[in-house]
Amino acid sequence: MSPNTDLSFLESVNKSFNLAAEAMDLPKGLARQIRTCNAVCEMKFGVELNGGYEIFTGWRATHSEHALPAKGGIRYAPFADQQEVEALAALMTYKCSIVNVPFAGSKGALSIDPKKYSLEELEHITRRFAQELDKRGLLGPGINVPAPDMGTGQRMMSWIADEYQKLHPNEINARACVTGKPVHFGGVQGRIEATGRGVQYGIQEFFRHPDDLKKAGLEGNLEGKKIIVQGLGNVGYHAAKFLEEEDGALIVGVIERDGALVCEEGLSTESVYQYKLEHGKLEGFANGRYIKDGKKALELPCDILIPAALEGVISRENAPGIQARVIAEAANGPVTFDGDKILREKGIFIIPDAYLNAGGVTVSYFEWLKNLSHVRFGRMDRRFVEAQGAKIVRLIESGIDQPLDSKAKADLLKGPDELTLVRSGLEDTMCEAYQEIKEIHSSNPKINDRRTAAFALAIRKIADIYDSMYL
Ligand code: NAD
Repeated sequence: MSPNTDLSFLESVNKSFNLAAEAMDLPKGLARQIRTCNAVCEMKFGVELNGGYEIFTGWRATHSEHALPAKGGIRYAPFADQQEVEALAALMTYKCSIVNVPFAGSKGALSIDPKKYSLEELEHITRRFAQELDKRGLLGPGINVPAPDMGTGQRMMSWIADEYQKLHPNEINARACVTGKPVHFGGVQGRIEATGRGVQYGIQEFFRHPDDLKKAGLEGNLEGKKIIVQGLGNVGYHAAKFLEEEDGALIVGVIERDGALVCEEGLSTESVYQYKLEHGKLEGFANGRYIKDGKKALELPCDILIPAALEGVISRENAPGIQARVIAEAANGPVTFDGDKILREKGIFIIPDAYLNAGGVTVSYFEWLKNLSHVRFGRMDRRFVEAQGAKIVRLIESGIDQPLDSKAKADLLKGPDELTLVRSGLEDTMCEAYQEIKEIHSSNPKINDRRTAAFALAIRKIADIYDSMYL
């Protein structure tokens, strides 16, 4: 590495890990054991397409096996490579641990530009990839469970589940071999929006801590706070939409591949998203000012900057120009190790990726549980809860002169459906993890920031597991 280039994504993750490990008292060699990627497999496989053969390269890294299954998305991107997969797998290990999801970390990728292939071709390629993963023991409900990531989605997950089911017809839990499936194919309500929803819950929790707000130079609540979001894909779209429509934040900037839209009065996330779906770009959208050099918009003033596209977008090159008070890392690894140092020196509060984008894996965990139990959440208790609510309403109304307020009554009479339960479980997870990170930060004087605290929290929990394994 030349002195003027940033560390790679993998080096950045490992450096952040080392900072945390150095602040802790661990048995000799344990930090290295936790940090080391256990296995990574590169696969080259041919697929018959258009009367000929095309060779594809894919990877699956299993970073850790301290808990099973190992869990992590599959990315389809032309720039995918082994180092990136290893970095993402490591982040998955730490992420699961931070949010108390009992999985180890894994990640996969296929070097492909999915836009260049038809749906039929993508199905053929994905099924072949699933076969390759399966024959190497890298797919299965108890071993390794992929999910969607950049460039992949629900449909691909159902192809993988279906292929696995064909290969293992006697496996009663076959559908649990992958998460992020459509609800009618074993998925769970709320999974598509889960990562963006988790980002919203994480930011809401930050606003519940006045001392953290003060550190960031902010006060009050999310209402009217100015937000810039980079990447209006699955994660960025949902996070921006919920923060705007439910919390009253102003989306003053949206950055996409072709450029950025900026509007001080706030953009409608839904309208921009629909425009992008129709036109494939932001340029030409009726409201706001269009900036061709989208990356420059990362440096515009705002309260919260949400990078939700890809890694390494804030580096030593542009970190000095960043004016946001908070960086909410919705993407994986959006800030390099060197960029992070500069941002911290500027007093910018970073809510780290390993925590903030863990909503996806949390709801994936719920989906996996649903698949193993073969019953939808709420099926056993919804009517029971409704009957209890009716009893409470009767009791209250028997003691007061007028009927209960209709909204309060409706709330008491409604038993939880699957979506309500998933959201409740996710919110609880995000709030609890935020508090655990904050607690480890405030109790260890060697820890100076929330990223290091998040890594320390993960290391402590994984170290405890190793400790009890080798008693
Ligand atoms: P996606 O493919 O749905 O969306 C990515 C968006 O970013 C797209 O709209 C794309 O056009 C845009 N984009 C790509 N390059 C860009 C650039 N240079 N500048 C601006 N915009 C750009 O992917 P996603 O699932 O939303 O994932 C986004 C990030 O969140 C990734 O880092 C991913 O690893 C992370 N993540 C995703 C999930 C999940 O559940 N999908 C979970 C955890 C973390």
